Amino acid sequence: MLQSARTKIVATVGPACGSVDKLAALIRLGVDVFRLNMAHGDRTRHQAMFDAIAAARDQTAIDIGVLVDLAGPKIRLGDLFAGDLDLAIGDQVDFVTGTITRSSHELTCTYEPLVAELEVGQQVLLSDGLIRLQVTSKTDDRAVCRVLDGGVLRGRQGVNVPGAHFSAPAMDVVDLDNARWAIAQGVEYLSLSFVRRPEEIIQLKEMVQAAGGHSQVIAKIEKREALDCLDEIVKVTDGVMVARGDLGVEIEVQQTPIQQKRIVAACRKYGKPVIVATQMLESMHTNRRPTRAEVSDVANAILDGADACMLSGETAIGQYPTEAVTMMNRIMLETERAYPDREEAKPTPEPTSNITRAMVQGAGRIARQLSARAVVIVADSIAAARYKSQTRDFIPTIALSGHRHVVRGLALYWGILPYYADPEQINGLPKIKAFIAERAKTHWQLNDGDRVLLVIDSPDNIGEHDWMTVLTVGRD
Ligand code: PGA
Ligand code: MN
Repeated sequence: MLQSARTKIVATVGPACGSVDKLAALIRLGVDVFRLNMAHGDRTRHQAMFDAIAAARDQTAIDIGVLVDLAGPKIRLGDLFAGDLDLAIGDQVDFVTGTITRSSHELTCTYEPLVAELEVGQQVLLSDGLIRLQVTSKTDDRAVCRVLDGGVLRGRQGVNVPGAHFSAPAMDVVDLDNARWAIAQGVEYLSLSFVRRPEEIIQLKEMVQAAGGHSQVIAKIEKREALDCLDEIVKVTDGVMVARGDLGVEIEVQQTPIQQKRIVAACRKYGKPVIVATQMLESMHTNRRPTRAEVSDVANAILDGADACMLSGETAIGQYPTEAVTMMNRIMLETERAYPDREEAKPTPEPTSNITRAMVQGAGRIARQLSARAVVIVADSIAAARYKSQTRDFIPTIALSGHRHVVRGLALYWGILPYYADPEQINGLPKIKAFIAERAKTHWQLNDGDRVLLVIDSPDNIGEHDWMTVLTVGRD
């Protein structure tokens, strides 16, 4: 267990990995969080997937987390008039209002006011940016477009209008209903697509709080508007996803690497976990081995300081989901070997009056001085382990908790090994010591004589990790 990668793996579920056995296999290979994408499927499918994940979690006894990904204001095409449509440069296609098309060159979409809000001269991108249209003229019920880049159009594909400021709400009735469902299921992470402003994240966080849930909210950065107020969004959110799929269409694709680095740096600055997502091992949809460029992409995300990397279609619909997870884990382990030498990856702790923060940051330094093998943090909330994760020191950290939601809620955090204990088994220092002594060799690959630094929230000062001690395996 102490030998697993520090960087976390998020894997999207779908038909390619949907059975309990396949999900359990992926957990054993290193998946930390499963993503359920609300943009596809209905409630029955989502519930079945969620139940299968829960069963796989029971089967493996590994507390992975679940991320429910809300579709947000993503615009999709309606059904096409006569199936797939081959568009050539110079062709004319029109967006029309309503849901009915009367010819093969008319398009409808899921965003009712699109025609009203499009402006002449604006570009509309379809099919992940492969097909490019430009609005040439408009009437009340029609936006006439000319094809700038052609290709084969399919119904239900995404529609991106780079730079547009649409009036769509951050969450429609379907998103709200999915959010309520996810919170009720107790999912650890709830992400919102196409975030534009910090208020949208605050609204979702308030919804979680009002429902008495524990879900942490993740802002998907995939719009120019979000880049324009990045710091404000990062400050209020619990975590971030660099959603490169849509981001690479909403902004110029050549700008995505720099923006990715900028987003990751902002998350480091404010101590928020960040997932780098989309096309990381894209070619493994159909190949057993990734391209060199893909391997570099994963490695560079880790070296930038990402907490997690995400697999999308690779695990959801690809031919080689287990190979993709195995490969991602290997790249992480190999890259992390170079990590401790990168000083910029280990921010100098800032002066703080917060006792928990100072104690866990200090724990890493003391552990290094003593050549301790692990830090163990016993906690009733995610806060202490979250601070520890942000220090990016390489000492493996076990976060021991008697609350499932704390254990699973830490699945996304770099370098943290969340571990559940029956609350009675870790009630008070003597029991905590006994518990660590019992698991050290059997579960955490520690040996007699190995030192472990223990950080706890003492009973005299509840709510702060104000107590630290050194244990020696086999002796204490
Ligand atoms: P999606 O989000 O897969 O839900 O679109 C990720 C992305 O856009 O990169
Ligand atoms: Mn997206």
